[in-house]
Amino acid sequence: MELFEKVAYLKGLAEGLALDTETKEGKLIAAIIDVLDDMCAELAVMQEELYDVEDGLDAVSDDLSEVEEVLYEALEDEDEDDEDEDDDTEWFETTCPVCEEEILFDEDELEAGEILCPNCGEKLEFDLSDLAAAAEEEDED
Ligand SMILES: [Zn+2]
Repeated sequence: MELFEKVAYLKGLAEGLALDTETKEGKLIAAIIDVLDDMCAELAVMQEELYDVEDGLDAVSDDLSEVEEVLYEALEDEDEDDEDEDDDTEWFETTCPVCEEEILFDEDELEAGEILCPNCGEKLEFDLSDLAAAAEEEDED
């Protein structure tokens, strides 16, 4: 640790200079170096603890991913259940003239008069008035 080395250097310097710790200034400098030494030791401990916290956080993150997976699967299942239980919606079925894929659509889409084939993207249009007219006036067609 660079900080450790710097403090060690200061310590060595104080010793090399034969710092007189009996003088006021000498006492002060010795005390400052002492505090720096303690701070370095404290920092080293904190760094170790931080590594532990990081490890713990990784474990929590992994656990959370598993919970998310389970939760999303449960939510998807719930969505599917909702569709099954939705008895108010009437579903219609038709076959796409382009790709011949079977398409399900509801009343709202029928009333809108058009749907997009989810398979090929072809726009399918319904003319409800034509259908009604054809049913009522079959003899004219
Ligand atoms: Zn299609």
